[in-house]
Amino acid sequence: MLYYSLNNPAARVTFKEATIRGQAPDKGLYFPEQIPRLPKEFIDNIDRYSREEIAFQVIAPYVDDTLTEEELRRIVAETINFDFPLIPITPDIYSLELFHGPTLAFKDVGARFMSRCLGHFVRDNNRPVTVLVATSGDTGGAVASGFYGVEGVNVVILYPSGKVSSVQELQLTTLGKNIIALEVDGTFDDCQRMVKEAFSDPVLNDHLFLTSANSINVARWLPQQFYYFFAWQQWPDKQHPPVISVPSGNFGNICAGLMAWSSGLPVNHFIAACNANNVVPVYLQTGEYRTKAAQPTLSNAMDVGNPSNFVRILEIFDKKLSSPNASPSSANASPSSANAEPPSLRDVLSSVSISDEQTVATILDLYTHHHYLPDPHGAVGYLALQRYLAAHPGDKGIFLETAHPVKFYDVVEPLIGSSIPLPENVKPLLNRQKHSVRIAPDYAQLKDFLLS
Ligand SMILES: *Cc1c(COP(=O)(O)O)cnc(C)c1O
Repeated sequence: MLYYSLNNPAARVTFKEATIRGQAPDKGLYFPEQIPRLPKEFIDNIDRYSREEIAFQVIAPYVDDTLTEEELRRIVAETINFDFPLIPITPDIYSLELFHGPTLAFKDVGARFMSRCLGHFVRDNNRPVTVLVATSGDTGGAVASGFYGVEGVNVVILYPSGKVSSVQELQLTTLGKNIIALEVDGTFDDCQRMVKEAFSDPVLNDHLFLTSANSINVARWLPQQFYYFFAWQQWPDKQHPPVISVPSGNFGNICAGLMAWSSGLPVNHFIAACNANNVVPVYLQTGEYRTKAAQPTLSNAMDVGNPSNFVRILEIFDKKLSSPNASPSSANASPSSANAEPPSLRDVLSSVSISDEQTVATILDLYTHHHYLPDPHGAVGYLALQRYLAAHPGDKGIFLETAHPVKFYDVVEPLIGSSIPLPENVKPLLNRQKHSVRIAPDYAQLKDFLLS
């Protein structure tokens, strides 16, 4: 399996190269040449497979021969060594909890898989790789935890001082070893600008082997398909596939869901649940794709004004149009007869924008009436699903609960008037010492630091 740049279909690389580079030299995102089809037997009998086996079957065609089967099985097992429970909330709505990993958000899966692949691929390098990443909160923790102790890889994380929650900050700053946290006296946009400047600085790139660990890396993006298969494995009514609502910002997670569906996973319909950052909802309604500056909201991991992965979603549907026999199995979204047209983007995907007021009301509603405490991102996903189901009686669905509510305690605790207990696996964090290097929001300071 090779990967091409969405800016130039002729530029093809292996999974290994795509993982090391992150982005193509022409700044295009990498996309796989084919979307594999999984055997019907596998989909129909998914209950009989272990989670490790499911994940291995899903990802193996994408990795191809860049890892041995034994190496890939080990990496997969280490990536998913925690739970992904499907919890009933109402008779029609289930929560797929993706926050049982070490940093309490779904990004753990992608970060754990990518870090292990990259660590393996750079083993024979004669100089260490430096992963440089800017974070508004969740990415940094997942990347720090995923790369902690990986030989041959140093990680430098830039985060905006005072603008991440205390749990998030501890996740970034307490590991030590090969993980360095730079505390920037500025905003997330400053951090991102400084990282971008570093990637395009020839002097710096002469001295260091720099790469990024953001969600456009194929090794972070593709393993996110696992969640959707784990959801199907636990889905109680296999005759009626679920509607799946995905809290979306950069659209990497939902794009992985659409890849899973393209491989044959039964899904009735997808909903991209957005906050006030509504580029995609507006596009699906009007056909106009207008990027905007990100607007701050309570579900801040989705504050994205120009979702990088949306071009990949368009590519999935372009590919479908060009290969008529690749129609995925799905109850409503795709026709089952051989002569039917391939499904269009709007048949399969809808997208809505949920305000902060609605998010707050939903957190309270779920807590009060259903004894379930969502985080702000999960609440956006739940409300988008509830609205869709109200308009489609008879359907049932799943929302992805992408983070543990304690990560956003500053939003959630005042609403419910009590404090959220910290899960056991993160309690030790509270006793650790924060170590960060403070720098001004100035690229020259970042460069000096990296060269020193
Ligand atoms: C990153 C993140 C999202 C958005 O995921 P995308 O793949 O960028 O669409 C949603 N919820 C939480 C909690 C996140 O950390």
